Amino acid sequence: MTNQNMVISNAKSGLTIAIAVAMSESTLFSQNQNGYFTKRKFLKKLETSGNGARINALLDSMRASSPSRRPSDTEDHNSWILRHPSALSMFDEIMMASKGKQIVVFLDYDGTLSPIVEDPDRAIMTNEMREAVRDVAKFFPTAIVSGRCRAKVYNFVRLSELYYAGSHGMDIKGPSNGHKHKKGNETVLCQPAIEFLPMIDEVYKTLLEKIKYIPGATVENNKFCLSVHFRCVDEKKWGELADEVKSVTKDYQQLRLTQGRKVLEIRPTIKWDKGNALEFLLESLGYAESNNVFPVYIGDDRTDEDAFRVLRNRGLGVGILVSKTPKETKASYSLQEPSEASTKENDNV
Ligand SMILES: [Mg+2]
Repeated sequence: MTNQNMVISNAKSGLTIAIAVAMSESTLFSQNQNGYFTKRKFLKKLETSGNGARINALLDSMRASSPSRRPSDTEDHNSWILRHPSALSMFDEIMMASKGKQIVVFLDYDGTLSPIVEDPDRAIMTNEMREAVRDVAKFFPTAIVSGRCRAKVYNFVRLSELYYAGSHGMDIKGPSNGHKHKKGNETVLCQPAIEFLPMIDEVYKTLLEKIKYIPGATVENNKFCLSVHFRCVDEKKWGELADEVKSVTKDYQQLRLTQGRKVLEIRPTIKWDKGNALEFLLESLGYAESNNVFPVYIGDDRTDEDAFRVLRNRGLGVGILVSKTPKETKASYSLQEPSEASTKENDNV
């Protein structure tokens, strides 16, 4: 394997994850330069992936509560970068911190591995990105964590050796043939909201009817949760759409409404988020109480903050926020999205 062959040079490649891979396991670093370069290249890819994450909140209330809002109008990018330095620039430091520990890689999908696009069904990851993820998974247990339905994320990524956590972590499945990083061959499976399926389906059908008169409004069935997309709706209609959604969900005490970027999410009230998914996966890999593990979580959305918070509270690994603009975040590091101009304003799940 020649390292140079793996270097991603295409700035439009759509990879935003790079940092995680750049951190080479210490043994790989000391004994095998390929591991070092693989990781660094992966980080590089993420950095150049170019998912225009221009912040555009949905409604005023969404703006007020969204972590995508600027911490203050006066804070400039430089001061934010000081607090959340580029994961690429901190590559060596991160690598040192992971020395002797098992790296586990967690990757969000939309806005991290794939560009944000108007039609969520067309959020395709590039082959180049797929190869990068495949390379990472050769060295470390790797999981995709997404708000989307697990089957849909799998259809985008199509790497059977990965763990997948769909529906904001409420639908977790390990590699079908077990995993080389895990003892035994039992399949990892976790669906803590399984009893909500009929209710979610019912609300989905009701919502489809309720919002069909609003041009551009769509509802995506993510199995254990629903996403109402505002991105193609005229801003003048956002309030109306939000009212329609609330009029449906108010009859369901067991469901809650949360805001994302140009999206309203309907989820079961159970306390289960991407942070829980991260902890579940670490546990299933045998690192429940162990500090001998170094999770690297890369994501771009407010739902990823739950995972960043877990890492920060436990003093484990690193969280890396993919963002071009300053945001309040629990992540330690950042990765930029340089080709913002090539993509539309986005939301994601
Ligand atoms: Mg995302």
